[in-house]
Amino acid sequence: MLDLPIVLFDDASECCGCGACSCICPQQAISMRADESGFVFPVIDEDKCVQCGLCTETCAFQTQAIPNELQEVYVASSAITDIRRSASGGIFAALAEQTLAAGGVVAGAALDFEGGNAIPRLVCIDDTATLDRILCSKYVQCDQDIDIYARVLDYLKQGRAVTFGGTPCQVAALRSFAYGYDERLLLVDVVCHGVPNSRFFNDYLKMRAHELDATVINYSFRDKRFGWSFIGRIDYIKDGKAQSAPINGLEESYYRLFLEAQTYRESCYQCPYASPLRPGDLSIGDFWGIREQHPELFDGTETVFDDDLGVSSLIVNTQKGKRYLEEHASDFNLRRSTYEKASTNNKQLLRPVERTHQREEILNAYHHGGYESVSQWFAETYKKVL
Ligand SMILES: Cc1cc2nc3c(=O)[nH]c(=O)nc-3n(C[C@H](O)[C@H](O)[C@H](O)COP(=O)(O)OP(=O)(O)OC[C@H]3O[C@@H](n4cnc5c(N)ncnc54)[C@H](O)[C@@H]3O)c2cc1C
Ligand code: SF4
Ligand code: SF4
Ligand code: SF4
Repeated sequence: MLDLPIVLFDDASECCGCGACSCICPQQAISMRADESGFVFPVIDEDKCVQCGLCTETCAFQTQAIPNELQEVYVASSAITDIRRSASGGIFAALAEQTLAAGGVVAGAALDFEGGNAIPRLVCIDDTATLDRILCSKYVQCDQDIDIYARVLDYLKQGRAVTFGGTPCQVAALRSFAYGYDERLLLVDVVCHGVPNSRFFNDYLKMRAHELDATVINYSFRDKRFGWSFIGRIDYIKDGKAQSAPINGLEESYYRLFLEAQTYRESCYQCPYASPLRPGDLSIGDFWGIREQHPELFDGTETVFDDDLGVSSLIVNTQKGKRYLEEHASDFNLRRSTYEKASTNNKQLLRPVERTHQREEILNAYHHGGYESVSQWFAETYKKVL
């Protein structure tokens, strides 16, 4: 037992909002609450806290060493799934299919919609029919209903295999949470440059719904009908009819500000996982610049990779990851690459993004004038570059 009140972090940049501390607290003394810009942080109820210290011990973002053992790098795509369902080469879908076929459970990010509201959350699934729910990139923090770590641990204790795919900070959190029960846990981190929060996203969506005079029922950040790019799709109900429209990442305020790292959590600008020290057994990302880095794959002698549909970088960080890949090698298209090639057009593999000088201004506008003010700021500031 400790004598002093528990302090979870001194500065906002030290907390990634993973929620593992809240999930592990035996007294349910920690709730996740949004600050004035919508970013969630843990708050301790001193009346309930018995100062056991479990929360600070579990906090991977501040305390845990990264157990990297190897670093094999591949150009990769799935050989068993339709990669149009995924943001890049469909590696996570192939891993998930293998786990489900063996009777295991897969956990990842869903963007559910209820009454026009988006609910980004981490969920578990155990059948292929619902796999699409956790495929493809959602460019928003899964900061709702954070109890995934406890649910995954329950499955592991029942002897089920679990494959979890998430941002590196969530993966590190689960690694810490499930310590001692992780033999059947495969951890997959996505290359990540940062996240805005769900309240900010929902306020943007409300504005879009108002403009469309419709109820939004789905939002896809990457739609492969438009190629391997930052063009997505918004689905909505208008006049009783389901309709959809493309979303251009460079023109939509929320998306463009995301792509330019203007609206992330403070922790993202100092993220320890934006580096070669990866917390997953495997890391997956977009292999941007693939033609330049591997021209031999596009000279006509090879026809396996299609950069209109998406090509992944796959990094093997642990012996477990390597074993898993070897056991299922025929489910993937794999060609050897290097960390240097994978990171040349993907700086998040080397260092965190820089905090922009406009972030404060944008979030202040949001705090004081709501998303309308952000939208107005965007229109005025970006009109010259659009
Ligand atoms: C916020 C964010 C930022 C990213 N930034 C980069 C980048 O800078 N460079 C790069 O190469 N790749 C980045 N990616 C990853 C990339 O977009 C693909 O997700 C990745 O290449 C895997 O592709 P896939 O085709 O194998 O799987 P997909 O089917 O596209 O991805 C599914 C996996 O992504 C996870 N996922 C999706 N959204 C979220 C979320 N909001 N929170 C947690 N997990 C999520 C799912 O849980 C699942 O594990 C980012 C992804 C996210 C979510
Ligand atoms: S980083 Fe995660 S575990 Fe650590 S204090 Fe923040 S929410 Fe809690
Ligand atoms: S010290 Fe223990 S009881 Fe107090 S908030 Fe942390 S986990 Fe909960
Ligand atoms: S940049 Fe780091 S802290 Fe931010 S969401 Fe990604 S892994 Fe988490």
